[in-house]
Amino acid sequence: MTPLLLSCPMKTILRIAVDSPLRQSFDYLPPADFRAELAKPGMRVKVPWRNKTTVGMLLEITNSSTVPSHKLKQAEAILDHSPILPPSLMKLASWAADYYQHPIGEVLLGCLPALLKTSRALPDLAMQPQNELVQNKALNLNTYQQQAINDFNNAAGFQTFLLEGVTGSGKTEVYLQIIAKKIQANQQALILVPEIGLTPQTVARFAERFAVPIAVLHSGLNERERLQAWQQAKNGQAAIIIGTRSAIFAPLLNPGVIIIDEEHDLSFKQQSGFRYSARDLAIIRGQFENIPVILGSATPSLESLANVKRKRYQHLILPIRAGTAEQPTFRVIDIRNQYLEENLSPQLLQAISQHLAQKNQVLLFLNRRGFAPVIICHSCGWVAKCKRCDARLTLHQQPKRLMCHHCDAQQVIPIQCEHCQNKQIIALGVGTERLEKALTKHFPETAIIRIDRDSTRRKGSMQKMLQDIHTGNSQILIGTQMLTKGHHFPAVTLVGIIDADHYLFSQDFRASERLGQLLIQVSGRAGRAEKPGEVLIQTHHPDHPALQALIHKGYSFFAETLLKERHTTQLPPFSHMALLRAEAVISEAPLQFLQEAAKHIRKIFDAEKIFLLGPMPAPMEKKAGRYRAQLFIQIEKRKLLQQLLKELLDHLDKQKTNRKVRWSIDVDPLEIF
Ligand code: ADP
Ligand code: ZN
Ligand code: ZN
Repeated sequence: MTPLLLSCPMKTILRIAVDSPLRQSFDYLPPADFRAELAKPGMRVKVPWRNKTTVGMLLEITNSSTVPSHKLKQAEAILDHSPILPPSLMKLASWAADYYQHPIGEVLLGCLPALLKTSRALPDLAMQPQNELVQNKALNLNTYQQQAINDFNNAAGFQTFLLEGVTGSGKTEVYLQIIAKKIQANQQALILVPEIGLTPQTVARFAERFAVPIAVLHSGLNERERLQAWQQAKNGQAAIIIGTRSAIFAPLLNPGVIIIDEEHDLSFKQQSGFRYSARDLAIIRGQFENIPVILGSATPSLESLANVKRKRYQHLILPIRAGTAEQPTFRVIDIRNQYLEENLSPQLLQAISQHLAQKNQVLLFLNRRGFAPVIICHSCGWVAKCKRCDARLTLHQQPKRLMCHHCDAQQVIPIQCEHCQNKQIIALGVGTERLEKALTKHFPETAIIRIDRDSTRRKGSMQKMLQDIHTGNSQILIGTQMLTKGHHFPAVTLVGIIDADHYLFSQDFRASERLGQLLIQVSGRAGRAEKPGEVLIQTHHPDHPALQALIHKGYSFFAETLLKERHTTQLPPFSHMALLRAEAVISEAPLQFLQEAAKHIRKIFDAEKIFLLGPMPAPMEKKAGRYRAQLFIQIEKRKLLQQLLKELLDHLDKQKTNRKVRWSIDVDPLEIF
């Protein structure tokens, strides 16, 4: 049904995006002093909204509206003299809103620093003097690095490159030399990294090489700092912009290259609200800006490898470590029937002693924070569970309490069983705190440092710990995932993977890929300088094929095997997925809602072309007091998926009966449980 066009055709209408969860734009009459020749898309407009005013973004100036003109409200003022967002960013935001099925207003206003979501004018920035490039520190490239740079230089305009280089192969050096050329040509480089707060080294390396202004954009900034960095990117003052995920929406005056470092990393996908992938948007932005995009990783995602095979990306390979460092050797420790001292096998303990005796550092990886993941009554088997989640409570000793890692609920540690009042309560399993305690007992003379979300909560503590590691004050490093990303610990020669089994058995079809990436990334911290590295992997499944392929044949072979599997099973990247999630306080409501949705999909779409999995309860059905369910939608062709989602969401948006159910759509989901 097409609505009638009721307005007079000569009227001027402003189509405006407003920060609202509604999936639409809003039409307004122009303000009293409006001059059409001065107004441009990308300018902010102050408009009446509900009983207040708000700041929206001008999308277009048009002549007609589906809303009758006597019902149109008048905008109050155009706030900018020139577009605050450049046309290419406006285009990127609309593309993203469309693709991820997210309200355009939230996407566009989300591109602005908070201080600009008001009527405030863009402040004047004092121009800093442009400094000279410091080029003399550039390293002599090895032949592979040189080849990669030559290939890069041979392409013009938009092209995506996958820079696959083993850990320590000198990818960063390749970025630096590519960036140097862009800066000489007066262009800007946008670099996205997984986490900045955790890896201050990254920014330091850029700052060391180039004396140009660098804008750093990440979640740790206050609003004034963010506005300033944003403006420096926008007016071209910053030649280099380094940021996390959301920096993909940073305005650039004269972009020359976009680099996504550690492109396989999950943090590039936003997991709530506007669920975009900054990596995928980088490629779209590269097209719109007509500039090259580099995806770099030692362990590329299967998606990117598939795109290399389809000849969409150009493959640049660095197969050896730069300088003198060699790849670490792997050894699997079969822990079946072994006596374990808090999860540590005799072989691992012995290896730790040896490496310590040689004055080297040891890194132990355990992705489980806290003291123990379970406490259980020795008399009746009662287990402490979270009241708001389908989850057990983790025992923490520093400070002492029980914590739910899913909803952050906290409790005092019970002195007796809630069920039978017995006082014998046992802590089962080993977390990082317990591992630290065991190692302290075993190596009383050795300084041990534990890096996880708990130990680094205080501002600056991470930096302090990294310093301790680099000065050699600490010899044993225990860490969760936090310690695996991008760090460079030259003195670490032994990496121990405490528990590989956890990753071998998961319902997520991406689990093997994650295991491979994780093992290679953690191992990459070992032997990065002159001393050779060794990696020990503890497992009850030493013969697991994925593990064997990975350690004997390397990541490329491993990834190749996984890609074949995905092809056979028609899973992404050989099909496209969206995940419709629903949650409610009432347990049946989410499933009912999704059943309705599935019914509608079957009505509007040819059943042969699509595959629906579910609706089903989420693996952890109850979280933070709400029941959750999900429906997978899988289609071979991306276009068809887009078409289906559009029609489905139109329908769901109209369902007024389902106010009690919160739902969301995740296009190209990465974490599916
Ligand atoms: P990646 O980013 O691939 O992990 P890096 O760029 O951090 O690797 O390089 C690893 C180490 O090798 C760094 O210490 C770096 O300075 C050094 N390096 C890189 N390229 C060269 C080169 N061509 N010659 C000598 N050392 C190099
Ligand atoms: Zn009991
Ligand atoms: Zn909980």
